[in-house]
Amino acid sequence: MIQLKSAREIELMAQGGRILAATVEHLRGAVRAGLSTGELDQIAEEFIRSHDGATPAFKGLYGFPGSICTSINSEVVHGIPSRKRVLKEGDVLSIDVGVGYKGYFTDSAVTVPVGEIDIETKRLLDVTQEALAAGISVARPGNHVGDIGAAVQSVVERAKFSVVRDLVGHGIGTEFHEEPQVPNYGKPKRREKLVPGLTIAIEPMVNAGGPATKQLADKWTIVTLDGSRSAHFEHTVAITDSGPRVLTAL
Ligand code: MG
Ligand code: MG
Repeated sequence: MIQLKSAREIELMAQGGRILAATVEHLRGAVRAGLSTGELDQIAEEFIRSHDGATPAFKGLYGFPGSICTSINSEVVHGIPSRKRVLKEGDVLSIDVGVGYKGYFTDSAVTVPVGEIDIETKRLLDVTQEALAAGISVARPGNHVGDIGAAVQSVVERAKFSVVRDLVGHGIGTEFHEEPQVPNYGKPKRREKLVPGLTIAIEPMVNAGGPATKQLADKWTIVTLDGSRSAHFEHTVAITDSGPRVLTAL
């Protein structure tokens, strides 16, 4: 069942979302060659908990061991932070962060270059960010969930990259994953209608190669099947009478 939020609930989510946005910026600034994803995880947990009442939502969610997900290069999402995974110049790191605050969750992700990256990887990051912006721009009353997927898919496929279909965006609020599912592909005017009070995480996962993925033996990390690089950008968005409101921006 879809849980619509009141204006008061959306304000609480925006408060948590600002803490999350600050966390993402803090982590983006910390990323450098030589840092391990385990160290970044510790930085994230300390930063989130330094805000009174804020908790790292991923810690223990479905048994996940980290406070953030850290996915390098061909890892799409759900990478486990580790002191043994050290970032190298030219890598890209997807950082996915969730924050719990006053009973509500918010969710955001960015893919960050480690030093200088090659031009095709830079294009992958730019296109994925552009696809997220396109998805957000149509997240308004009267449209449908399918309009979001169609907008994301069109930006990605025009750039000759592919949209991951095995994982989708989602409703979010008092639960981290709520209905509806928000695929990054689809057709306009299909699926659920977007109405004021709906809060969703829009999160294109885009592969430089084919769309297929597989899960590693650690039971968490999702990687591209063909070994190509992948990027992930995500915001939590509220549908309001006046259009989309991004809750995880500074
Ligand atoms: Mg996320
Ligand atoms: Mg999400």
